[in-house]
Amino acid sequence: MDTVSPLKEVVREIEAAGGDAFKYCFQCGKCDVVCPWNRVRPFSIRQIVRQATFGIPEIELEDIWRCTTCGTCPSRCPRGVDPIQVGVSIRRIATQYDVFPASVRGVRSAAHSLASDGNPLGAKRGDRGAWASDLGVKPFAEGMEILYYVGCYGSYDPRIQKVAVATVEILNAAGVDFGILGTKENCCGESIRKAGNEEVFKGLARENIKTFIDHGVRRILVSSPHCYHAFANEYREFMVNFEVVHISQFLGELIEEGRLELAGAFPRKVTWHDPCYLGRHNGIYDQPREVLKKIPGLELVEMSERRETSLCCGGGGGRIWMETPKAERFSGIRLAQAKEVGATVLATSCPYCIGNFEDSRLALGDAEKIEIKDLTEIVRASLAARGATP
Ligand code: SF4
Ligand code: SF4
Repeated sequence: MDTVSPLKEVVREIEAAGGDAFKYCFQCGKCDVVCPWNRVRPFSIRQIVRQATFGIPEIELEDIWRCTTCGTCPSRCPRGVDPIQVGVSIRRIATQYDVFPASVRGVRSAAHSLASDGNPLGAKRGDRGAWASDLGVKPFAEGMEILYYVGCYGSYDPRIQKVAVATVEILNAAGVDFGILGTKENCCGESIRKAGNEEVFKGLARENIKTFIDHGVRRILVSSPHCYHAFANEYREFMVNFEVVHISQFLGELIEEGRLELAGAFPRKVTWHDPCYLGRHNGIYDQPREVLKKIPGLELVEMSERRETSLCCGGGGGRIWMETPKAERFSGIRLAQAKEVGATVLATSCPYCIGNFEDSRLALGDAEKIEIKDLTEIVRASLAARGATP
């Protein structure tokens, strides 16, 4: 570490990452007004931007770890400032100095596990494909229609493994020629990057890119909007350009091509939660709704905070590895919004959203009132109602 002050390092980091727009902040506070943290506790990203511009950022404070990178405030800033970039740059400095308050130490262990085993969950690399061992899923080979990139949570987390299984059943029902990378798959690295560990992100990205190239991958199907964001936007920094589709887009394609017919009923009142990295960060709002509308008997109801104003679940930006007290979880507010519009199913398509909603559902005693479903689980139920899946 050289003798450059933390302030200069932050300024240098942000400028290296794409500009000096943060210097144009005139402290209007619009970012704080829209930030979901201010519904559960006081927090000011405006102050963090000001510290980065005029003062010495205090890197030991818990507040520098709060931003979930939900994407709401950059879209509202009248001066074109991206407060996310400022926050992530300060986290990079904290990571370099190894300064982690107790509630965010999960980031440090996630980084270690990512560096050693390619996943943030402390699981063994060799077990990455175990979820698929009884499903007859093929290893990906050049010439296949699409690579199904499962992601860490789909590979290891028991709740999200159900999403991976539903995805496989749908792909089989539609006759898609696909394969997985199994133990050769690494975390995409999106969230550890937002948590400030650029070095681990770059290592994961380089390994994945080499694996994709070695296997002749051209098209990648993902379940997670975070993987989508990494492959579609961030891996371009490495001068590669793989075609990536999120499952909500691919399902629409399969239906349009007549390969998937959703004839079985799902007679439930469903509301759609737009994940931040699917919606605000990548503009995918219509495709999942179009799929849901095709399912007989399904009534789609909308929450008032939807599309561009969708409420964050709280899991982005590496927050999924940090501790958040029950009373401060955005996912609890979102669950209440879903119940308010009379939904009995809260549907989404992101492993972090599903994990957070499932936790809040149990913590709030809502297990009987509302179910959390991935889009694929609803589609699979529709297929099963017509006997089209096992
Ligand atoms: S909205 Fe933009 S200009 Fe206003 S305080 Fe936030 S970062 Fe600064
Ligand atoms: S990106 Fe979202 S969580 Fe982060 S400061 Fe902005 S509004 Fe708050």
